[in-house]
Amino acid sequence: MCHTILVSKNYDYLDRSVRRAWTPTGGSDAILPSHATRWLADRTGLPVRTTPAVPDSALTVPESGLPEDAFDALCTVLGQAHVHTGRDDRLGRAGGLSYLDLLRHRGFGEPAVPDAVVAPGDPDEVLRVVEVCAAHDVGIVPFGGGTSVVGGVAALRGDKAAVVVVDLYRLDRLVSVDPVSRLAVFQAGVTGPEAERLLAAHGLTLGHVPQSFERATIGGFAATRSSGQASAGYGRFEDMVEGVRIATPRGDWRLGAAPASAAGPDLRQLVVGSEGAFGVVTEVTVRVRELPTIRRYEGFVLDGWDAGVTAVRTLAQRRVLADVTRLSDPYETDVAFAMSGGWKTALVRRYLRLRKVHEPCLLVLGWEATSKEELAARRHATLRALAGSRPVSLGTPAGESWRHGRFAGPRQRDALLDKGVCVETLETAAYWARLGELRTAVRDALVGSLSAPGRTPVVACHISHAYETGASLYFTVLVPRDADDPETQWRRAKAAACAAIGPLGTITHHHAVGVDHAPYLAAEIGTLGVDVLASVKRTLDPDGVCNPGKLLG
Ligand SMILES: Cc1cc2nc3c(=O)[nH]c(=O)nc-3n(C[C@H](O)[C@H](O)[C@H](O)COP(=O)(O)OP(=O)(O)OC[C@H]3O[C@@H](n4cnc5c(N)ncnc54)[C@H](O)[C@@H]3O)c2cc1C
Repeated sequence: MCHTILVSKNYDYLDRSVRRAWTPTGGSDAILPSHATRWLADRTGLPVRTTPAVPDSALTVPESGLPEDAFDALCTVLGQAHVHTGRDDRLGRAGGLSYLDLLRHRGFGEPAVPDAVVAPGDPDEVLRVVEVCAAHDVGIVPFGGGTSVVGGVAALRGDKAAVVVVDLYRLDRLVSVDPVSRLAVFQAGVTGPEAERLLAAHGLTLGHVPQSFERATIGGFAATRSSGQASAGYGRFEDMVEGVRIATPRGDWRLGAAPASAAGPDLRQLVVGSEGAFGVVTEVTVRVRELPTIRRYEGFVLDGWDAGVTAVRTLAQRRVLADVTRLSDPYETDVAFAMSGGWKTALVRRYLRLRKVHEPCLLVLGWEATSKEELAARRHATLRALAGSRPVSLGTPAGESWRHGRFAGPRQRDALLDKGVCVETLETAAYWARLGELRTAVRDALVGSLSAPGRTPVVACHISHAYETGASLYFTVLVPRDADDPETQWRRAKAAACAAIGPLGTITHHHAVGVDHAPYLAAEIGTLGVDVLASVKRTLDPDGVCNPGKLLG
């Protein structure tokens, strides 16, 4: 299934099946083995049935309501070839990749379809598009990879007559590299794999690898404060951002002049995480590192969640985290073993029983380095700090198996949807002292709201990002889908989880606010915080054309 890694944005521009189903062929048993389906049926009560996606032709798509004068003005800026108002082009940019987005493409609810999709070719054209939209009071939705799982790219009109998706796929250049300062300037539409390919030619890497890596873009990473799987080693995306350029209705704004500055608050961080609500990010200057030449991924098992958390906290506080540090709770470990299946997994389970591990929690550690010596020294430091937690080593096969399968989730999601499963994830973060309570509270909320006669949810959790003061928690939910009203089924569960998160952690560690988390923002940053953001928006976007309904609701 690796071919999608090579799919370029240009190739898939109008191919909605790729965008919707992640794979060109959609879900299939080839990516959800039959033993996994059986396990899921036993565990959750999943009835045996298939519920394939409905054909696009069956979806309702309203006519474009883009005013003629706005259409003409956009064509003047971009040329007609880059202003799309056809049904399929607009449907192809109707929403992101949340479970509810995917449901809408399966005939449950109507996707918010834009009135047009425009594709500017450089930052100046983006600025002129923003100016045209502001002049004609048309909403703008910046669209990178379209992988938002919180409604960030929903084509909401707000109080505007029409809304246009600004697809950034043509902003695909590495603008410059400064190998001395280790800086690279990327246009916003460059995808994760393309960024790494372009940097590798200079012996450099960004090291930002979220699970959506194959499709998400540099601009999207910046706009959402994304966090990659190797964030323990390379940092979160906002740590990598040295400068930004953003096209706002008030003009072009460039930020970032030195590695550190005391010239007032860091305004770059106001743009990072702005989710298109302040304008369209057109270029990002990022800190890059030497390309690793050697890597080692290993699996360990710890007995019980508390022991695992203590182990990861110790690594973080002694500052010897591996670049990838990921701890699964017993439920997620069970899912991982069940999905792997086969005699090797049976052997592992037996081996763990012999070692008297009662509640296996899988810990994946991965180091990347530029020399054997560096890798050995870092690995030694990590393992020395881990020793007190009595890890059972599963060796490199377990680590490599995780590394090879780490982008499989999105593909399996489509296969699971075809089987009638409700499959969704949510994430949060908290300080170490509250992490255990937070996990229990969210787990109880999800299990409680999704349990029904004959229907038992699987709720799995892992830590994928650890800090000296705390960590993120990432939950995956699998439960038979309510055939009649799947949207309400998930909305109820999500609301229960968000209520549980409220007093203990953040409403989002890396998925961003979008539409889904906007109602919870004030509780986290205060009404004063919301007022501050609203006044920044009023300054940069006085008519409110930028991404209506996102971030501030
Ligand atoms: C299967 C899956 C796995 C994921 N795993 C991770 C993960 O490991 N880590 C993580 O951080 N996230 C993850 N995500 C969430 C998502 O991929 C990230 O939020 C990502 O950063 C979005 O990038 P994108 O280019 O797809 O942005 P989009 O989805 O296109 O947009 C996201 C938001 O940013 C805005 N935006 C996009 N580009 C720009 C721009 N140039 N200027 C201004 N605003 C812009 C959009 O309007 C929208 O509000 C995952 C999503 C999926 C579907």
